[in-house]
Amino acid sequence: MPTRDAPAGDGPPPLLPVTDALARILDALAPSQAESCALRDVRGRVLATDIAARLSLPPAAVSAMDGYAVRAADCPATGTALKRVGESAAGRPWDGSVGAGEAVRIFTGAVVPNGADPLILQEDVTATGDTDGATITVNEAPRDGQFIRPAGLDVTAGDIILTAGTVMSARLIALAISAGHTEVSVWRRPNVGILSTGDELVIPGSTPGPGQIISSNAIYLSAFVAACGAVPVDLGIARDKPGEMLARVRAAPTQLDLVVTTGGASVGVHDHVVDDLSASGTELGFWKIAMRPGKPLIHGRIDDIPLLGLPGNPVSSAVCANIFLRPAIAGLSGGNHSPQMIAARLAVDLKANDRRQDYLRATLDYDPHGHPVVTPARKQDSSMISIYAGANALVVRPPHDKARQAGDMVMVMPLDPLL
Ligand code: AMP
Ligand code: MG
Repeated sequence: MPTRDAPAGDGPPPLLPVTDALARILDALAPSQAESCALRDVRGRVLATDIAARLSLPPAAVSAMDGYAVRAADCPATGTALKRVGESAAGRPWDGSVGAGEAVRIFTGAVVPNGADPLILQEDVTATGDTDGATITVNEAPRDGQFIRPAGLDVTAGDIILTAGTVMSARLIALAISAGHTEVSVWRRPNVGILSTGDELVIPGSTPGPGQIISSNAIYLSAFVAACGAVPVDLGIARDKPGEMLARVRAAPTQLDLVVTTGGASVGVHDHVVDDLSASGTELGFWKIAMRPGKPLIHGRIDDIPLLGLPGNPVSSAVCANIFLRPAIAGLSGGNHSPQMIAARLAVDLKANDRRQDYLRATLDYDPHGHPVVTPARKQDSSMISIYAGANALVVRPPHDKARQAGDMVMVMPLDPLL
């Protein structure tokens, strides 16, 4: 049965703190299956296992510059004359051994020949030519081991270079490739069903009739889900009548890992999400969350598939997607997501906040010294997608935050430019 907040004494019903709601949502989510993925396709995926280096980097001692490989004992001071006996270039090592009074021409990335301990920069010698037999006069006494990158300086074969749960970025792909891997084990991308609800909605591309609006939430969430690394599954629009929502989830074209609904989450006579879920006989939480926008949120399972019921208002649904859906997808994908927060200077005054955590649509900018400055939009109506689309950050005000003046520091959540 739905768990609805009971009024506490004479005061207003208690609201569920955002962090508690998020913890409860994440509690039930885990990735299901691992699969192999080529490193060229793995950006954004989450590692299912630790990765050990197959190769050491560099695999042998190599030169960090262009110059000569010599023996330290031969060059105690400047002015020593040595005989050039060979050349070691990248990919073409010299397989001899540097003897007393000898030098080997060497280039960046080339294997250091046996017997040599320091290298000398080509600028620090005078050479009679650039062929074997030339005389090399040392103008600068070398330090022991200078300009040599020892084998394993960067990575040692067998060492763990990446741990399970890491999200693969381009630079981590470069590391895994360099260490000898071509594919890695990652968690399967979760399938996220997206269902809109409402008699007033028409599909994008059609002309709204009287009282109708274009359903924007589903396309927004589809782009959002894909950007978070999951696979969006379109479940269409459930009309405002009992059973539609259940029927559409059950007719999903693929196995779902999460269902996200928008709208119909209130308790009006035309809101059926809660009743449908109750009728499906599964566990259900109908929460009033201490946040603005986005107070009502449904959390539960439908035929054992986790479900998140977001509000219908486009901005409420988008803010809730950032706060709850993004971490939920990370949980289903084997990773975790905690939003980056920064402190910024307020550009305007703000009145004292009430008991709901406020997410103010705002513009984050930088002053000439590079310090962040944030300006909340004057209109904060949760139906106004134009204001949200123009924002690049949310000012996060805790419940009961005191009145703030322009110049005060506040916490800001920058919005991901792709979301
Ligand atoms: P509801 O929670 O169903 O009462 O919806 C709240 C508000 O959000 C109403 O004004 C709806 O028209 C609007 N809304 C609901 N679903 C969508 C949607 N998919 N796209 C755009 N607006 C929506
Ligand atoms: Mg509705």
